[in-house]
Amino acid sequence: MEPESGSLPLRPTSTRESLQRRVSRLVHAKRIPMRNRVGIISFTFDDVPRSACRVGRDLLEAHDCLGTYYVCGGLTDREGDGDEPFHSHADLRGLTRAGHELGCHGFAHLPYQQRGLAEVRADLDRNRAFFDELGGDVPPANFAYPYGQVSPALKALASERFVSARGVQAALNRGRADLALLRAVPLYSSELSERTVADVIERTERERGWLVFFTHSVVDAPGRCGCTPALFDFTVRSAARSGCRVLTVAHALGQVAFRPA
Ligand SMILES: [Zn+2]
Repeated sequence: MEPESGSLPLRPTSTRESLQRRVSRLVHAKRIPMRNRVGIISFTFDDVPRSACRVGRDLLEAHDCLGTYYVCGGLTDREGDGDEPFHSHADLRGLTRAGHELGCHGFAHLPYQQRGLAEVRADLDRNRAFFDELGGDVPPANFAYPYGQVSPALKALASERFVSARGVQAALNRGRADLALLRAVPLYSSELSERTVADVIERTERERGWLVFFTHSVVDAPGRCGCTPALFDFTVRSAARSGCRVLTVAHALGQVAFRPA
């Protein structure tokens, strides 16, 4: 699995960081037996470039679906490094008004494995303050590790602060989900074909799993870490027409943790 990068520069992953990531899959787990009656598919966006909350949002809503947007307050109203700016305050308010979920991705998009825990805590506090100022009903309950970087200590911290924390291990959640390190499949045009998307959705339905997609931009030339509108539309349409339910992470957790009536 490649490091998550978004429209931000790629960070090389050291051997030590890779080892920490592998060890992290085993420790501080918040495992729960999955009780959902049917497969679940969630669409998530990291960093939230503008196209995610415009093109991505429009395509989700065209199929009566909602998404989860993992926001760094420090990127709000900022120009991106590439052609595309990040989201605005108005974009975020529009998402919440329409029923989409805002999650936490840290404030400054820091490589947490290379920072001390005090700095990580301060960064999470700052993002919490950002959401308080944005004015929502509740602070974000769900988190995605910036760059997918996780260590045992980070996992323990994320468990304390959030209901769930999502990584970038490209696999299906099935059987018992680790809420402190949810698996997620990159919805990147550079990595997935329509055939692969159809296969993974079919498997999610058959195995009654929880498939969490993540991506960044939704544009015609998305680079390595984004998705074209055509592939995004195909994926959302396929998910909506499958026997799976398409839910935000928050709503999915309700189905996974508590058997619905
Ligand atoms: Zn990110």
